[in-house]
Amino acid sequence: MKLNSKISKIKESQTLKLNAKAIGLKKQGLDIINLTAGELDFDTPKVIQNEVRKKLAENKYTPVPGLTELRKNIASSVQKNYQIKTSKKNIVVTAGGKQALYEVFQTILNPGDEVLIPIPAWVSYEQQVLLTGGKPVFVPLTKTFDLDVSEIKKHFTKKTKALILNSPHNPTGAIFTKKNLEVLKKLLKNKSIFVICDDIYEKLVFSKKYILPSKILKPCKNLIIINGFSKSHALTGWRIGYVAANPDIVETIAKIQSQTSGNASVISQYAALAALKFPKTDYLQILQKRRRLVGRLLNDLPKISFNFPEGSFYFFLNIKKIDQNSKQFCQRLLKSTGILLVPGEAFRARGFVRLSFAASEKNLKTAVNRLRNFVENY
Ligand code: PMP
Ligand code: GLU
Repeated sequence: MKLNSKISKIKESQTLKLNAKAIGLKKQGLDIINLTAGELDFDTPKVIQNEVRKKLAENKYTPVPGLTELRKNIASSVQKNYQIKTSKKNIVVTAGGKQALYEVFQTILNPGDEVLIPIPAWVSYEQQVLLTGGKPVFVPLTKTFDLDVSEIKKHFTKKTKALILNSPHNPTGAIFTKKNLEVLKKLLKNKSIFVICDDIYEKLVFSKKYILPSKILKPCKNLIIINGFSKSHALTGWRIGYVAANPDIVETIAKIQSQTSGNASVISQYAALAALKFPKTDYLQILQKRRRLVGRLLNDLPKISFNFPEGSFYFFLNIKKIDQNSKQFCQRLLKSTGILLVPGEAFRARGFVRLSFAASEKNLKTAVNRLRNFVENY
């Protein structure tokens, strides 16, 4: 029996696939260090565990766009953070940032509509655009992974429907500069497109220069913000995200959601409420320490170059002097050292590999030492 031909063109998430592979190999008792995961290695914060424990008796559907109290609290937090007037009508709660994005594409794209995706790019943008009938259009970032507005301009057509901005950026750890965002704002002035700001790493920033792209681009009625609790509170498995957008978009997303998944898990919504009540975590200090450690160790490695990540928890290593084929590099690395990294091909960036520093200092030290031996003998 033939399956849906559109789906046969879709690739599985390479990051999730590699993470599962690493977990599987570890279970077999192999000496594996998994630096693939786009996932913090911290436990669920105790305050969230305690709050959620009180809610275990809750088992009913919630309103499709989310618990009213949660939508209100997210709206207040968005208003404060982004300085954009926001009410509950602007918020729909989803099963993770990933669902939020997918529903946005379903909401805004007609067949053949083009979405500008700066590359390197997180694995799901391209596949989600394809799944929802759109056409991904790839726009290179600069050499330092900043926005290249002249490239964006070059790729505009009559069919351009949306642009995705992700800062802090996965996989490069870069942040987009205020200067280039201002140039982008000028370019967008006469264009009628949606700007999707994927701000999932917005709480994990090491640079004082960081500014939320939407803060520069506003006022912009076509702005769609994606955010969630996966990275801010280490709740990846709880699957809780949201879209902040104009009420038309939000209502359409809720309509789609009402016919597909319904509300996000009620327990996870209570976890999100708790996360908003206790927004402080010590993640940034811990990650900052690891970032410095890994940066110092990597600096000594021959033939590998990189920019210090300014946000998120990824080093994006240029390995072109060693091997242009990152897939091959990663396969050999795994075989001879037990270390798993994500090959740049997953992000449309051959000759690079992504290293997550969301791992213990001990594992990070061992991993970079093994990487050094490996590179020296490649
Ligand atoms: N955007 C980016 C850039 C990501 O790296 C991820 C992966 N976590 C997501 C969105 C989706 O996050 P979630 O786990 O909340 O679905
Ligand atoms: N976003 C994470 C990553 O880039 C998680 C994996 C995924 O959602 O595909 O690794």
